[in-house]
Amino acid sequence: MAGNVNNLSYNGKTKMYIDGKWVDSISGRSREIVYPCTGEVITKVTEGNEEDVKLAVQAARRAFDQGSWPKTPAAERGRLVEKLADKVEENREELARLESLDTGKTVEESRWDMDDIAGIFRYFGQLADKEGGEIIESPVPNTTSRLVREPVGVAAQISPWNYPLLQASWKIAPALAAGCTIVMKPSEITPFTTIRITELAEEVGFPQGVINLVLGAGATVGTEMTVNPGVDLVSFTGGIVTGKKILKAASDTVKKVALELGGKNPNIVFGDADFDTAVDFALNGVFFHAGQICSAGSRILVESSIHDKFVAALKERISNIKLGDAFDPETEMGPLISEEHRAKVEKYMAVAKEEGARIVLGGERPRNPPHQGGYYFMPTLITGVNNNMRLAKEEIFGPVITIESFDGEEEAVRWANDTIYGLSAGLWTKDQDRAERVAAALRAGTVWINDFNIYFVQAPWGGYKQSGLGRELGKPGLEEYTEVKHIYQNHANEPVNWFGAKK
Ligand code: NAD
Repeated sequence: MAGNVNNLSYNGKTKMYIDGKWVDSISGRSREIVYPCTGEVITKVTEGNEEDVKLAVQAARRAFDQGSWPKTPAAERGRLVEKLADKVEENREELARLESLDTGKTVEESRWDMDDIAGIFRYFGQLADKEGGEIIESPVPNTTSRLVREPVGVAAQISPWNYPLLQASWKIAPALAAGCTIVMKPSEITPFTTIRITELAEEVGFPQGVINLVLGAGATVGTEMTVNPGVDLVSFTGGIVTGKKILKAASDTVKKVALELGGKNPNIVFGDADFDTAVDFALNGVFFHAGQICSAGSRILVESSIHDKFVAALKERISNIKLGDAFDPETEMGPLISEEHRAKVEKYMAVAKEEGARIVLGGERPRNPPHQGGYYFMPTLITGVNNNMRLAKEEIFGPVITIESFDGEEEAVRWANDTIYGLSAGLWTKDQDRAERVAAALRAGTVWINDFNIYFVQAPWGGYKQSGLGRELGKPGLEEYTEVKHIYQNHANEPVNWFGAKK
């Protein structure tokens, strides 16, 4: 578990970007940003408040209502969005470093994120002019009827700390491509890459007021973004508790709300699965970014016929996972995001004991951590779990696998669906008919057959049930930022004489 103390220097901006200017908050306050691998303070950034948000929304409103952006030809908007993809590619290494400094995830994972992000800006840049509207067959003679898509207006975009720039780019790219103006807020604990993308967007040359960045806490800055009457749509990615608050707060002004919330994603392994691949992907499904993934397949349902063998194989692989510094090339798993979050994961270890489950591996902090001040937690394997336990129902959001042993397809599906969430699910079998039956029966926005945790920009992403509202990515991801207008024209020019025409 050797650590590799990284150079923690941060030379980037620490301000917000409002109406085309980099500004400190009116509050005069700042917030310390911490490196999760060591617990050291990297820098301080300005801490925004409600008044800053009001100014940012006014700027975005002006840029939408009076500016050129919504009327700019979609192809031209797309070209600018694509230039952001080029910028991400050119600055890949720097952006990856910033993401790892903020989150503690391995720099290799951050590089993959940056490649995805470049792809997201490119995809939406190219999609911008591909939605030209639709002709409707009118039932009335001598009329024409068509649908056009128009930008929804000012979009407030609130993102989480686990994939800071990735989650932000799922929102920024389609919003700009659609012709919206935006006010975005990264998680207060991971602002670096969202600040940097704003700077890169400034270099690309988006018109003044189109892109605004505010920094600060959810309860203050985030709340103002959801209640401000100048905002037309709130797009939020984060936890379910916050999502419910946002839905309520946005209801007073009947804003459009898009929610990407948590998950408790079942990964079902049938007895006839390709055993080694299923074991390997079970690990991939959970341990990236120390399990802090909304789609983590942390809830593994294993058919009883292979349960013991599967658990033994997992145990062997998990005990080899190398914890370390984000910048150490040997590191396979970094720390959790914060002390507070580690305490939450630890509470679930107490829950496991209360509920009578068995912690087979991990369940505690490493005795010899890579850095003393880091928020490390051991990769953990818990068996003897059933679908009625809190362990199987609540999002733990850490490097924790729980195992439920099932008998037969019907039980697997019933247990898998016994959750308030419905973000993703996976299943492993060589029986093609069963694969199709189970995929159809699972209530989740994404179902992987013989794979886990793959996503790409072409396919929409989002949750069934309480995992969210709406979809990001793919064509629906662009449509989220548009309103549909029906334009109807009567070409007959003939009075119909319904009122007052009788002598
Ligand atoms: P969080 O809900 O604590 O915070 C997310 C964002 O919301 C932050 O920017 C925060 O400042 C802001 N916020 C907090 N309170 C607010 C309020 N009252 N009003 C407005 N904004 C507020 O979530 P988190 O801990 O940063 O992220 C982890 C969660 O995100 C997990 O539950 C995870 O499953 C979820 N997530 C979901 C997806 C998805 O695609 N469905 C992707 C990534 C993360």
